[in-house]
Amino acid sequence: MYVRKTRLLTPGPTPLLPEAIRAMAAADLHHRTKQFRDVYRGVIKDLHYFMGTQNGIALFASSGSGAMEAAVSNLFSPGEEVIVCAAGKFGERWEQITTAYGLRPVVVRKPYGEAVHPEDLETSLRRHPLAKGVFLQATETSTGISHDLQTMGPLVAETGAIMVVDAITGLGSSVIDIDGWGLDVVIGGSQKALMIPPGLSFCSVSARAASRFDTATCPNFYFNLRKHIEAGPRGDSPWTPASSLILGMGAVLRHIRGIGRERLIENAQLLARATRDAATELGLQLFAKNAIPAGAVTAIRAPEGLSSTQIVQAFKQGFGSVVANGQGSMKGRIFRLAHLGYFDFHDLFGTIAELEVILQSLGHEVELGRGVRAAQSVFVDARAASASGSQS
Ligand SMILES: *Cc1c(COP(=O)(O)O)cnc(C)c1O
Repeated sequence: MYVRKTRLLTPGPTPLLPEAIRAMAAADLHHRTKQFRDVYRGVIKDLHYFMGTQNGIALFASSGSGAMEAAVSNLFSPGEEVIVCAAGKFGERWEQITTAYGLRPVVVRKPYGEAVHPEDLETSLRRHPLAKGVFLQATETSTGISHDLQTMGPLVAETGAIMVVDAITGLGSSVIDIDGWGLDVVIGGSQKALMIPPGLSFCSVSARAASRFDTATCPNFYFNLRKHIEAGPRGDSPWTPASSLILGMGAVLRHIRGIGRERLIENAQLLARATRDAATELGLQLFAKNAIPAGAVTAIRAPEGLSSTQIVQAFKQGFGSVVANGQGSMKGRIFRLAHLGYFDFHDLFGTIAELEVILQSLGHEVELGRGVRAAQSVFVDARAASASGSQS
């Protein structure tokens, strides 16, 4: 009651990996030294493993939006028509960036909580055969939906457009086969599944996309993709790198290699499933409908008569838990629980138990323990399945 630990339960920033915190403290070194170049080269190499791609990778000192901007400013020219799939606040960010660079976005818009379906994209591609790019989110963090990249990637690959995927919360929380599905640009950020603070973004760039470096005419300087992609494998960055964060990222990527990237994804997916089951058992409604639910984050509707702002405040005041409210017009209507990165079942059991107490104290009828039990069942079943899998 009287001791409350502050816990980050948000879909970015996410809880920090302890090994990374220690590694970040050792940043009193110069970046043009063999010692640091070895770290940097290792990080680029391990990012290839984490993302699962052979494509070139650029690493920037910026939050995720920096790499989103780089994709636009390096690969497109003013006046070009592009298709933006907008299913939430981050899809709307693509509209803003492409517009800022003078592109002409055609927007395929969905109500919050729904996804753009492959057929919607197919129709738009047919109507706009000259479109030079398709922009979308792997998972739309503001609503908790995922897009079907496996079907959409090949649709775009048949056209003259390149596919630009904001996978900032998708990476490490859902299966994304960058090379197999033809995803030309895939973007990530440090404060999501990578368990370190905000400040690094990265993106992979296919040869098909890179062939535009010489012809695209949008202006860019700091976020130059080619310079970053060429320098990285030598252990260099064009400008002074964010050394501390890179040391942290090195520690995280070693950790992910240790457990396996597939296992990290499975972990998030399991927590997400357990959260959905628990919410449903408590009589709550999930916000995502008509869509693949995200592994990164689950958006839950506040029950009738309650505001999600009250729920979020009660998490903070009663338990020290920092839970995300809805963004924009979704504020007050939904709250969002995160699963990506350094989250485990201990976190989830606690969070669901807190939620039950909060709902009860706000007058929503719940049977205490019912949601926790649903989450425990997912854990028990998954453990049994993995034990029988490892025996065979
Ligand atoms: C967090 C996030 C971003 C990046 O936002 P920044 O504030 O620039 O880090 C972009 N897209 C999605 C889907 C995100 O979840």
